[in-house]
Amino acid sequence: MILTGSLHNHSTWCDGKNTPREMIEAAIAAGFTDFGISGHTYVTPDDFGVRDEEAYLKELRALQEEYRGRIRFWVGLEHDYYFPVTDRARLDYIVGSIHELRDEATGRYYLVDGPKSDLAACRDELFGGDGLAMAERFFELTVENVRTYRPDIIGHFDLIVKNNAANDLFDETSSRYREAALAALRRCADTGCVFEINTGGMFRGYRDTPYPAAFLLEELARLGARVTVSADAHETRALRFEFGPALELLKKAGFASVVVWENGRFVDKLLPKV
Ligand SMILES: [Zn+2]
Ligand SMILES: [Zn+2]
Repeated sequence: MILTGSLHNHSTWCDGKNTPREMIEAAIAAGFTDFGISGHTYVTPDDFGVRDEEAYLKELRALQEEYRGRIRFWVGLEHDYYFPVTDRARLDYIVGSIHELRDEATGRYYLVDGPKSDLAACRDELFGGDGLAMAERFFELTVENVRTYRPDIIGHFDLIVKNNAANDLFDETSSRYREAALAALRRCADTGCVFEINTGGMFRGYRDTPYPAAFLLEELARLGARVTVSADAHETRALRFEFGPALELLKKAGFASVVVWENGRFVDKLLPKV
């Protein structure tokens, strides 16, 4: 088994369905040697983040000790651009993500990771109906986030497509969209940060392919960027969701290897030959 480490996962501390203990037990059963929980930093809109970071860290560090010898459990946070972690030194890693766009004039947040109506309102109220301008802003923020905070994992790089499966909020096939995404991808890849192929949107039925899209994976392969596989699991059933097909997509995009978190660092693992 190649994929023995997985860091981007959630629990009942934020918007997950299972407790950290249930997630860890399921990770052991699923054959992971290294497993992490990365609760959302506190996020005001929809209130889906970790409210009490102190208590979160305390419980997760206690579990890390308790499970020593059975699984290496890692304590992280999924840092959001607008709500960065307060003290990174206390964490084993961070995932760096964009989940909403803010109206700088009013301070109102529009969720990218919420209901479609939120993103449609964002497009219409903040970008005068120009969905591509909204996508461009999302990618601009992504670059700013990655270049400012240098996360250990760049979370769901093109999450802006989550609610766009019908291609009706903006045209994902347009050259304007693709160029904005590719330009941002290259600027993020320059940092050397690890990208993820994230199957979370598939598990929850939003998309039938993982983030990021195939044309972005191909560019990452061309650039020699490092990519890991993440479930972004919010429940135990999702821990290895579509990991096999994700590896196939990486191979198809031109990758020879994938990086996997092992004993405190990312290691390269060769993808099996066909
Ligand atoms: Zn996220
Ligand atoms: Zn997540």
